Amino acid sequence: MRVRDEAARIAGEIAELRHAIHREPEIGLDLPKTQAKVLAALDGLPLEISTGRGLSSVTAVLRGGPGPVVLLRGDMDALPVTEETHLPYGSAIPGAMHACGHDLHTAMLAGAARLLSAGTVPGTVIFMFQPGEEGYAGARHMINEGVLDAAGERPVAAFGLHVTSQRLPCGTFSTRPGAMLAAADQITVTVHGRGGHASVPHHAADPIPVACEMVTALQALVTRKFDVFDPVVITVGSFHAGTTDNVIPDEATFLATARSFSQESRSRLAELVPRLIGDIARGHGLAAEAVYAAEYPVTVNDAAETAFAAETIAAVFGAERGERAEFPITGAEDFSFVLEQVPGAFVMLGACPPGTDPLTAPTNHSAHAVFDDAALADGTALYAELALRRLAQG
Ligand SMILES: [Zn+2]
Ligand SMILES: [Zn+2]
Repeated sequence: MRVRDEAARIAGEIAELRHAIHREPEIGLDLPKTQAKVLAALDGLPLEISTGRGLSSVTAVLRGGPGPVVLLRGDMDALPVTEETHLPYGSAIPGAMHACGHDLHTAMLAGAARLLSAGTVPGTVIFMFQPGEEGYAGARHMINEGVLDAAGERPVAAFGLHVTSQRLPCGTFSTRPGAMLAAADQITVTVHGRGGHASVPHHAADPIPVACEMVTALQALVTRKFDVFDPVVITVGSFHAGTTDNVIPDEATFLATARSFSQESRSRLAELVPRLIGDIARGHGLAAEAVYAAEYPVTVNDAAETAFAAETIAAVFGAERGERAEFPITGAEDFSFVLEQVPGAFVMLGACPPGTDPLTAPTNHSAHAVFDDAALADGTALYAELALRRLAQG
């Protein structure tokens, strides 16, 4: 109970830090104001602190007694969303909002650094404060800059926490072994036709119906070429061609996101999608290219580390506070890059405000998303307990 009690005791300060970060959200890899707030929160603690070169990350190493290394990660970046929550600590910056709750992660991780610094840990803890989760692969940048070797030896385990404004009741933790979140890749398609007068399409090569056929063929590909028990999602989110009704354009372009939950399906997407696009174009005497860009891999939770995290949740908060997620989440996470190299677990934490139905509350990334401060103390305690108990295991 000691760590939980200590976390509850400093909950007000954790919330203050969270509100300060929330008021001044920053997007991408360069978050100088957020970084300054983290450095101020860690000031005076017995930590080896280094900051990123190509991004405004903060890596803090706490050395205790002899023992292994554990890594705890919190992301720090906001989204290009204009906040509409009317919270007293709402974003002061139009077009930027902590709509994914990363302000809570940063504040909780700083709180955990403070709690763990107050005692002697049986090993070493790396605190990974990461910019650029929302599409900038900040975790990969930090790995390239050496975060996994920050303590001189590799961590035996890595843990990440993520709050959610809906689905889970406030204070409920959720995780699962294996695929936890999807891989997310981007497909960019350009169909090359030949423009002309809309009244005589046979003298032109119209790219629009061909591109439309590709969009529907991609949906058929999903159901005909993939195992229903290893599903994929393809969504065309952007489609552009032409300027007016009486001109056939030269080109049509569209963008799609592809989500998958296994390396097999991901490789198959990368192979089948460009082939299908090319074949459809050729069938109509046109040319097309599809660029399949790998973005975030599947976030794979290690079975043993996930069982350990679930046991920790039950021991610290009671079994009723943890659930085993039945399905993975179709969103993606760049913590996946860490879990490719270090076994670990990613855990969701409900932060739905009181009086709101988790099933209908605005989702993460919504301009209306609200994350309750009530989750802060227990998120902080879980970070600290995961490190302490995992180090004690050796
Ligand atoms: Zn997000
Ligand atoms: Zn997020």
